[in-house]
Amino acid sequence: MPEFSNALMWFRRDLRTRDHTALYHALRAARQVHCLFVFDPALLAPLPADDRRVAFIHASLAALGEALHAAGGQLWIARGDPAAAVPAAVRALGADALFFNHDYEPAARRRDATITAALTAEGCAVRSFKDQAILERDEVLTGSRRPYSVFTPYKRSWLQTAASARAFDPWPSERHLDRLAPRAGVVPDAASTDAACDFLAPRLPTLAELGFAAARAPTAGGEEAALRMLEDFEPRIDDYHRTRDFPGLAATSGLSVHLRHGTLSVRALARTAYAAAQSARARAGAETWLSELAWRDFFFQVLHHHPRLVEKDEHRAFRPEYDAIQWETGDAADDDFAAWCEARTGYPLVDAAMRQINQTGFMHNRLRMVVATFLCKDLGVDWRRGEAYFARQLNDFDLSANNGNWQWAASSGCDAQPWFRIFNPLTQSAKFDADGTFIRRYVPELAALDNTAIHAPWLAKAGVLARAGIELGRDYPHPLVDHALARERTLERYAVVKSAR
Ligand code: FAD
Repeated sequence: MPEFSNALMWFRRDLRTRDHTALYHALRAARQVHCLFVFDPALLAPLPADDRRVAFIHASLAALGEALHAAGGQLWIARGDPAAAVPAAVRALGADALFFNHDYEPAARRRDATITAALTAEGCAVRSFKDQAILERDEVLTGSRRPYSVFTPYKRSWLQTAASARAFDPWPSERHLDRLAPRAGVVPDAASTDAACDFLAPRLPTLAELGFAAARAPTAGGEEAALRMLEDFEPRIDDYHRTRDFPGLAATSGLSVHLRHGTLSVRALARTAYAAAQSARARAGAETWLSELAWRDFFFQVLHHHPRLVEKDEHRAFRPEYDAIQWETGDAADDDFAAWCEARTGYPLVDAAMRQINQTGFMHNRLRMVVATFLCKDLGVDWRRGEAYFARQLNDFDLSANNGNWQWAASSGCDAQPWFRIFNPLTQSAKFDADGTFIRRYVPELAALDNTAIHAPWLAKAGVLARAGIELGRDYPHPLVDHALARERTLERYAVVKSAR
């Protein structure tokens, strides 16, 4: 006998039907299950009309709606503050239980706690589950039961715990979709929703109805697109450890946007890595890729245990002494920051990377490290400004990974690069884009330069530039800073950290 008669499954960052923890448990525990997604106007309001994330979510919801429809169910869509809209949908659909998956961001946790308290007081059961992470919250702790702040021992423990807890096993929700509430005959009680949300409807509004337009260079959304990308990546796992740092190669999975919105289960990725690691040929690549999934969980648990890092939109250094650093301010810093955002630094690899994020909403991981380090250690601009810029641009923007990685680059995070480690952008360029493939793709005005000059056009002989038809200052900017001088300034700036020890 099912525990509940009428459950409501609230989809958030988990827009799929396969291997879905909360959906699996809802389908097993209730006689029938309604499905809901809520557009939160407070989250949509600051976004530009052609925001790529909204387009991705919209396409993924369309795909999710079709999958539910094919199984006889439907996806209810509401728009309103979830704190009011979700309880209203529970009432309107006559649900006796609400199911959803955990979120680790402080604002989402507060929202979920408010909804849980309100519904529990009304006698509605609330069940929530781990789904975004392989291991979450307190599942990986040190011997003294404290959260880890160093990645390597965390990963060792993560691997052991994941194996013993069978944390990669699927939750085969797709096998139980016959428990979806049938489409016909469900008429929500409008009186319950009128005051709580703009609408509750069994139809996905168009992007235009939501106040948005089609995105430039959209990324294909939905579960099927995600599965195709995973299949496409599988043969490349073998060499991942050797190739992942080269942005000119299509060596990484590109799946981060799908993990962000849960159009693919992270457990499916981990199983793929585990299976590949059984063969000697693929072992090193698969293990390195699995480590990246562990980094993702690591940053989730850092944010879970240290919500102060992002409270009230005032992002703080993980190591408090780093908040004493005096970043550049004033017009010159504003101009430098604008040049960085607009790919006008005069450092070709940095500019190519910034064009990649601006044009596509994605940036290769090596380049994220290069441009982040360049912003705070070559330009002396506060890392929080870069973090906020990435948050606006990245399709895969995730508060925990973005904050954790920016703090890594600024050296203020847990297990960050040491403060005196300052990437040389030219060395990075020559090492990771040696033949200039990536630079030529995004900075075609430099394409005619040879493989030496392309990394630092200002060091090229006048004749080399002339033969390539390039005049610095006209066709491509002069470098914004001298790296050697900037390095000295940064070491002085960070001295405040040294003296605090
Ligand atoms: P793959 O190489 O195929 O890796 C597989 C998955 O592992 C990724 O999809 C991602 O989910 C995870 N992963 C890989 N590297 C990291 C990492 N360093 N930290 C956490 N998870 C990782 N990643 C985001 O998902 N969202 C962000 O907002 C984000 N901001 C970043 C900001 C900076 C300054 C830096 C240096 C890195 C940031 N990353 C972020 C991490 C990383 O760059 C991306 O996850 C990766 O480039 C995505 O490409 P992929 O899917 O091809 O990765």
